[in-house]
Amino acid sequence: MKKIGVLTSGGDSPGMNPAIRAVVRKAIFHNVEVYGIYGGYSGLISGKIKKLELGSVGDIIHRGGTMLQSARCPEFKEKEVQLKGIEQLKAHGIEGLVVIGGDGSYRGAKALTELGFPCVGVPGTIDNDIPGTEQTIGFDTALNTVIDAIDKIRDTATSHERTFVIEVMGRDAGDIALWAGLAGGAETILIPEENYDMNEVADRLRSGQERGKKHSIIVVAEGVCSGYEVARKLQEETKMDTRVSVLGHMQRGGSPTAADRVLASRLGARAVEILIEGKGGRAVGIEKNKLVDYDIIEILDKKHTFDLDLYNLSKELSI
Ligand code: ADP
Repeated sequence: MKKIGVLTSGGDSPGMNPAIRAVVRKAIFHNVEVYGIYGGYSGLISGKIKKLELGSVGDIIHRGGTMLQSARCPEFKEKEVQLKGIEQLKAHGIEGLVVIGGDGSYRGAKALTELGFPCVGVPGTIDNDIPGTEQTIGFDTALNTVIDAIDKIRDTATSHERTFVIEVMGRDAGDIALWAGLAGGAETILIPEENYDMNEVADRLRSGQERGKKHSIIVVAEGVCSGYEVARKLQEETKMDTRVSVLGHMQRGGSPTAADRVLASRLGARAVEILIEGKGGRAVGIEKNKLVDYDIIEILDKKHTFDLDLYNLSKELSI
């Protein structure tokens, strides 16, 4: 393989830039040319393709977002649009493609692979919901953003003896809520993977208050329901002064943490190795700190493993 392409797609995540940098530098190190596709699958079908050099990815390792821009492109689900994308790649002599993104982006890469164009998926999403990897690029940075916010909210919650409901991102997955809730010392964590009983949550709040707790922090994953809905129900049940903070898109921004930069560098470089080995149609990931790769067609039928032990621990530690 002498020419490869790289694109970022779907929701952006901090660490996509170091991943792009790794793809470009690793490829050039092996005398492979790299083409950047700007604006995800949308840029692919409209031919926004430009050769990248070593210097093209200078000074981006510490920046959030993606220098290649990202986009949603619903029409990419259609076969004729996918074929148009392959035509564009072939017109530039590109023989393999690295797709950095989430679940939807992987489905695009799977479709191209099934049409005979080799792709490698690199898990780039803050949600940590991709099968075939224990951690996705951007998750650690998002967690640190969330715990920074929880710590600040805790200060004001304590001063006013208030209950705070903090709604965090994660789409249908509860990983951000679980990990940030544990790291931020939340009293209750509500995630889509586990059922909850609002009466029990209210009882916990009341008994905490009776023991002299000055505040309560409840972290809710967006996949459960709106933080406002939880606050309304709790206020009704407990009559406690309850406030809501929806953290929103700040969770997707910011300079990637060291852990995300290292993960992005390792996964980006591995994706290039796989293409050079002539093995397209894979998805790279990390398990027990070792790089792994799986068939991108098969992996999408699996589910990201939810860490039940961590959830149980969070319950034990927040009594
Ligand atoms: P993410 O990659 O973060 O999960 P999306 O779900 O929005 O984000 O997907 C990103 C893009 O991937 C979509 O806009 C579309 O272009 C492409 N995509 C999503 N699902 C499919 C599919 N089933 N087949 C082909 N392409 C898809």
